[in-house]
Amino acid sequence: MTSLYVHVPYCEQKCFYCAFNSKAGSGYDDRARFVDAVTTELLRRPNRRPLDTIYIGGGTPSVLEPVLLDRLLHAIAERAGLAEGYEWTVEVNPGTAVHAVMPVLAARGVNRVSMGVQSMDPRRLKEMGRLHSPSDVTEAVELVRRHGIRRFNLDLIYGQPHQSLNDWKRDLDEVLSFEPEHLSLYCLQYEDGTVWTDRRRRGLYESQDEDLAADMFHAAVEATGAKGLRWYEVSNFSVPGAESLHNKVYWRNEDYEAVGPGAYGREGSVRWKEIEDIKAWTSAALDGHDVRAEEETLGPKEDYLDLLTSGLRTREGVDLESIRRRTGIDVSDSIQSHLNSTMEKGLAEREGSILRLTNEGVLVLDDIVLPFYEALDRR
Ligand code: SF4
Repeated sequence: MTSLYVHVPYCEQKCFYCAFNSKAGSGYDDRARFVDAVTTELLRRPNRRPLDTIYIGGGTPSVLEPVLLDRLLHAIAERAGLAEGYEWTVEVNPGTAVHAVMPVLAARGVNRVSMGVQSMDPRRLKEMGRLHSPSDVTEAVELVRRHGIRRFNLDLIYGQPHQSLNDWKRDLDEVLSFEPEHLSLYCLQYEDGTVWTDRRRRGLYESQDEDLAADMFHAAVEATGAKGLRWYEVSNFSVPGAESLHNKVYWRNEDYEAVGPGAYGREGSVRWKEIEDIKAWTSAALDGHDVRAEEETLGPKEDYLDLLTSGLRTREGVDLESIRRRTGIDVSDSIQSHLNSTMEKGLAEREGSILRLTNEGVLVLDDIVLPFYEALDRR
């Protein structure tokens, strides 16, 4: 697979729970310069194989003016071409000029749209600092279909402050009424630097109830299952065959190129992060300087843990034997009794050397991988 991630670091307004690297409001001034920087950077890089998967995320790519978005998409497609059967996803927010954006996406060959819905409750959307309304979602879904973009994903967040199980079930029912082929259902994480984390620190929000969050996951498994979707990664549900190829590249720890402020990329055992500051990244790219801020070469232990942790988040699980062959590390003796008890508790299943977690197990992933960390530490 040849895969590319492009980070567009602009939003109309910063959502109250979000810690992604994006700038709202006045940051719009430098959008044209930013797009020039991305196209310059793409052409500077040596890899010119046709792309199998592309993901343009952010931020909110759909806040780019259509002419800028078109320039960006054109530069990506022109650089090396698109491989047969490619998957090209662009994130959009309902309400962000989708009428103007959708024809541009369709004309350039984008075949998958990922939409930040987050909730279908207008009061909750306000509480989240979102600018769209539920009717904007309906309209955006219709537009996606009208423009012949076959595939679309809807994002929702659960485990929100003051969100009951019934609130969540209502959200699920409403998004499922759009008959999506794919849903990304994220459990809220309180990240540093967000409005919500600050509110929690000041006692305005209670800490997340883990049992309620687990019930919400199970409710999602049930509601999506009734519509033919099933989870294939702890936060991702799809009908068979509609899994995101691009995200699978991440979860399988395969190589992917990254372009944009704060974006992460991977090539072989090297992982890198690009300069986070938007202006600094843009200037470096335009001046032909290195845009990487950090680079890390993974040793066998880090590789082992990466493969294990990301693999166990997926329904396909991990092949412990192939991890052993790839990293040269074998911890089977030290973790055998842990694995046995994990399986006895119904948290995992074993099929030959494949280990996969059950619906219950995937919710306690950290507890399951901890003994692996400890066994690796002892080596
Ligand atoms: S959630 Fe999305 S739209 Fe909201 S601030 Fe974060 S990146 Fe922007």
